[in-house]
Parts: sequence; C-alpha cells; structure tokens
Amino acid sequence: MSASYTYTENVNTNLICCICRAPFVDPVTTTTCAHTFCLECIHTALSISSQCPVDRSRLTVHDLRGANPLLRNLVDELVVECPNRQSGCNETSQRQLVGIHVRDSCPYTKVPCSHPNCNQRVYRKDARLHSETCPAQGILACPDCKVDCLANELEAHRRLCALEEVTCNACGVIMIRAELAPHTDICPLVAVPCEQAANGCPWSGARHHLLDHVSTCPYEAIKGFFATHTVKVASLEDENAALRRQVGELEGQLRCVAADVHATRVSLGPWFRSDASTSSAASPVVSPNTSTAATVSSPVSLASDLAPSPPPRPDGARRISALNAALLGVSSDAPYVPPDAEPAFEYDHHRALPAPTININTSLEGALTSLRNSVVALAGSLDSSSRRHDVTLMTETLRMHEEVQSLRAIVHGLRMQVHQLMMERSQMGLYAARSGAAGAGDGGPWSTRAEYLNEQSSTGPPMMVPLTTTVRRTTENKL
Ligand SMILES: [Zn+2]
Ligand SMILES: [Zn+2]
Ligand SMILES: [Zn+2]
Ligand SMILES: [Zn+2]
Ligand SMILES: [Zn+2]
Ligand SMILES: [Zn+2]
Ligand SMILES: [Zn+2]
Repeated sequence: MSASYTYTENVNTNLICCICRAPFVDPVTTTTCAHTFCLECIHTALSISSQCPVDRSRLTVHDLRGANPLLRNLVDELVVECPNRQSGCNETSQRQLVGIHVRDSCPYTKVPCSHPNCNQRVYRKDARLHSETCPAQGILACPDCKVDCLANELEAHRRLCALEEVTCNACGVIMIRAELAPHTDICPLVAVPCEQAANGCPWSGARHHLLDHVSTCPYEAIKGFFATHTVKVASLEDENAALRRQVGELEGQLRCVAADVHATRVSLGPWFRSDASTSSAASPVVSPNTSTAATVSSPVSLASDLAPSPPPRPDGARRISALNAALLGVSSDAPYVPPDAEPAFEYDHHRALPAPTININTSLEGALTSLRNSVVALAGSLDSSSRRHDVTLMTETLRMHEEVQSLRAIVHGLRMQVHQLMMERSQMGLYAARSGAAGAGDGGPWSTRAEYLNEQSSTGPPMMVPLTTTVRRTTENKL
C-alpha cells in the first residue's frame, strides 16, 4: 500500500520501513525488541515466519503495539503528490489528507455517470458535460411542436418553442409565440412613446391613444424645426470634428517647432537672448531678420560697435574757419568750405555694413551654417570698414596739410602788407621830423621802430599778394 504514494521531498531514513523501504504506513512497534514496521508489512512477514525481520528474535502479532504518536504524525504529515498525477492532477497535500482529496474533490478521479442506465465512469471534471449528452438518458418529444429533445434539454427548448402558447401582456390575448412579435407591433394596448420622444416629448401611453396625443403634442407642431435643427447640428458636429483634427495637427507641428527652437537655443548657448530683452520687444511680431540680427549681436553688442557714426570734424578745421571768418569778415557760422564740397568728407550712411541675412527657417544644421556664414560676412565687413576708415583719415590729413600751406601764404602776404604800412609810416615820421623842431633830432621811439623795420625789409623784396587770390587758391585745395 505504501508504494502508491509519491513523496515530493527526501524523507529522513529513521522514518523508512526496513521491509518495504518506504516511509511507514500505520507504523507498529514490537514490545519485545522495539522495532517499528508498517502494520501491513509486519503482518505479511509474520504470516511467513514468527520472527522479527531485523534481529530474528521470536515475535507474534500479540507483541505488536501502535507506534509512538509523534512518529505517526511525522509520517502522516509528509507531503505527497495526488495519485491521479498521471491523469493530469498537479495537487500535492499531506499524506493524511490526500485520500480525502481523491475521494471528494480531485477533478481527475473517475466517478460513475449520474444516469442509472449508464455504466460509464468519467473524470469528475467531465461528469456534468457527460450527463448532459449521455446517450443513456431518455429522449422526450416537445408537447407543442412534437420535436424530439434530450430529457435535460426539453425545458430550455420549451422556453423558445415557436408553437408554445403565450399571452400578450397588454391585451391578454392568447397566441403561439411566433405570432407574439407581429402582434406586439400592432396591439392597441401596448404602451408606446410619442413619436417626438427623441426631441423631448415625455408622453407615453397605449397605442390607440397615440393619435389623440399627436394632435395636441407641442413637439409635433415644430417637428420641421427639429428636422432642420438636426441637420444643422450634424453638419456642425462634422465641422467640429474636422477642426479638432486640424487643431491636433497644428499642436503636433507646434511641438516640432518648439523642439527645434529649444535645440537652436541649446546650440546657440551664450549667444542666445530672448526677445524680451532686445529693443525689438516693443512689437510682438518682429521680422526674422531683425530678431536674428539682435540675437547674433547681443552678447558683445557687436551691432552697436559696428554701427556707422560720422567721424567728428577735426577741431583744427573749426579754428581755421573762425580765423578765416575774422580775416575775410564773413560770419563764423558759415562753413569754411563751399557747402557742395562738404559731403565728400561725410561718412556715407548708405555704405554702412550690410547686415548679413540669416535663414532660420530651415533645419537646425542649416540655421547654424547660415549663422557661421553670417559671422564670416561680418568679419569681412569689419575689415573693409577699417580699411575705408584708414583711407578717409589719410585724405583728411592731406587736406589739412594743404590748408596749412595756404595759410602760411596768407600770413606771408599779411606780413608784407604790414611791412609796407610801417615803411610808409616811418617815412612820414622822418619827413615830419626833418621839417619840424630841431630839438627832436634823435627821432624818438617811432623813428627807432621805423629804422628797425626798414632793416628787416631789406632782407627780401616786398611781396604784395591780393587776399582774394589767396582765398580762391584755398578753395581749389579743398577740392
Ligand atoms: Zn526486532
Ligand atoms: Zn513497510
Ligand atoms: Zn488529485
Ligand atoms: Zn452516462
Ligand atoms: Zn417545441
Ligand atoms: Zn395584445
Ligand atoms: Zn408627444
């Protein structure tokens, strides 16, 4: 009997019967030599020989007693597999409980069919299905339609049988089931809703009252409005759905653009400054070129550094202008040179550095390439600008040089004129002295000055330069 158990784990050798080499089943202990065996094993052994199988001492069934309860519990609580494992049961349980499992609940225990005329034994799990289809059960005919049915299916058939007599719940007329549905559609006592119930009419009543209600139903009067309203609502719903789709697509595009902008910001790093901090923030919509230029130039104020500003007029030129005005008697407010010549030295605003265009509408890589090209263009512009500035400076220097030359000539002419005047004056003084009193023989301070000037004049020939000629020459130099 012990061979029918399959133990799930290794068993202590002290619990093994030396006859069957398996854990004890119903263990008994000898009173003479204190050896323990399965009850069945030792009975079989003693029927052959009245000796203890271990030590061969004399032994009879009267020397056997039930084993220690502790030992019984140890072997009864060993975990074993269900004996129906071969059939498919995977249950395991204590050995003392496995018999109850097999007897009462194991789905793979074979049980007899419930029909008295059937001799089959089927798995417990299949018993219900077998019982419903068991060929040994009786065949019964439906009393209404006379169709043959299995005995256990007759009740279900009669609930649906088309020929069974049924009663209309509204009018109480008796008819076969097949006629009930058409009858319900026309039965005058069946409760029906108003035809305008979908539009909100709460009325409900027997069908033969419906016509009376329709004549007074307030919803019936405006059913035309409901019809057009329904069409309009349907078209609006379609439009709404289309708009929702568009909004969804636009949101997707917006997310893409936002991701691009974020990537661009990350790429720009410290070169990025938000529109809020630029001067163009006043208007919410800025042209791409404006914002891009501001963005590129922001960290180092590149644009303001490169912004063209007219070079200030040399301070010396203003002083020369004042001097000429004093000499020629013209207003000091008037320009020193003719007005039409002045713009030649003004900084040309229209030749300001060209703002490199940056295309940020393409991909991030395209935008970066564009930015790089823009920086290169700016560097080139800066270079040419400084060269232009050098040329302007040189021209200005040459002009100043010529002005100084012409001024020297003017001063020389003035000196000659002063010399002439002093000469005339000293001659007049000498003449007066000779014709005047003899007491003033030494001539006084005036005569001394005149002689000195005369000596100076002898170093070179007196030169008279008309002032008008000098001014014209200066003008030519300017040009
Ligand atoms: Zn013994
Ligand atoms: Zn045994
Ligand atoms: Zn089982
Ligand atoms: Zn059966
Ligand atoms: Zn029937
Ligand atoms: Zn009816
Ligand atoms: Zn109504």
